[in-house]
Amino acid sequence: MKDGFALPSCPSLSLTVLASGSRGNCIYIESEETAILVDAGFSCKELLRRMDMKGLLPEKLSALVLSHEHSDHVTGAGVLSRKLHLPVYGTSGTLDAAKNKTGVLHRRKDITCGVPFAVGDLLIHPFSISHDASDPAGFTVSSGGLKIGIATDLGIATTLVKNHLKGCHALVLEANHCPVMLENGPYPWSLKQRVKGRTGHLSNGDARDLLGEIIHPALSSVVIAHISEKNNTPEKAGAVVAEALKNSRAKLVTACQQRPADPIRLTSSKDSWPCSDNTENFQPDKLHYSFAD
Ligand SMILES: [Zn+2]
Ligand SMILES: [Zn+2]
Repeated sequence: MKDGFALPSCPSLSLTVLASGSRGNCIYIESEETAILVDAGFSCKELLRRMDMKGLLPEKLSALVLSHEHSDHVTGAGVLSRKLHLPVYGTSGTLDAAKNKTGVLHRRKDITCGVPFAVGDLLIHPFSISHDASDPAGFTVSSGGLKIGIATDLGIATTLVKNHLKGCHALVLEANHCPVMLENGPYPWSLKQRVKGRTGHLSNGDARDLLGEIIHPALSSVVIAHISEKNNTPEKAGAVVAEALKNSRAKLVTACQQRPADPIRLTSSKDSWPCSDNTENFQPDKLHYSFAD
């Protein structure tokens, strides 16, 4: 930089949903310094191919964080961990239950819902979600005054979930099924009960109602995720969830199974540094963080 003077950059936090749905889930999150993956529900080869498609560097990854042990979240976790020498964070229930799918991990890091942990400059806060797995978790990831919330496999949105997701600048929210399509769809009765039960998945209407309760002016992006390919369509999910965004400037994105979504980049400026971003009016001091479980 000329005259030895360097402008400080705005803190930034980026999010790329590499895949989402019942055949595989993976979310890439990065700050300037640190990158993590949340879930690895495809083969290692496919995950690396999708990262490459979006220009994301495997060398930058510092950790893999698992939400729960279902195959669509852990299929590539073991190979990825060993190949890239990544520590794998998950609740003891998740890591124990995933063992037969992941094999030996490069390094196992047990976490507890309600207790935040740091990976580089990312503060990750796991919270309990209602899902038919062994101690499953949703997450918020914060850095530089910016916060991303992830809640993709949950039967009901509890008060705890809503409290954690408040104050997020970007959300990845499940809108799994359209109740009418589920009712008339091909699933056997028992599976229909599981999907719509308290430990199953959120419907489009559930996602809209959850969003309606946590929406705030600095929310800039909402990614609707884990959309069922048999019991929903991206159009139906988008139309219903958009009802909660009528008076909001937040952008709605639908994540799908077949290809990675475009990256979402959040930046913030505490004072007068110009940021050409979608959170330009963001005031870090006015954020409400709820860490109470
Ligand atoms: Zn899932
Ligand atoms: Zn699941």
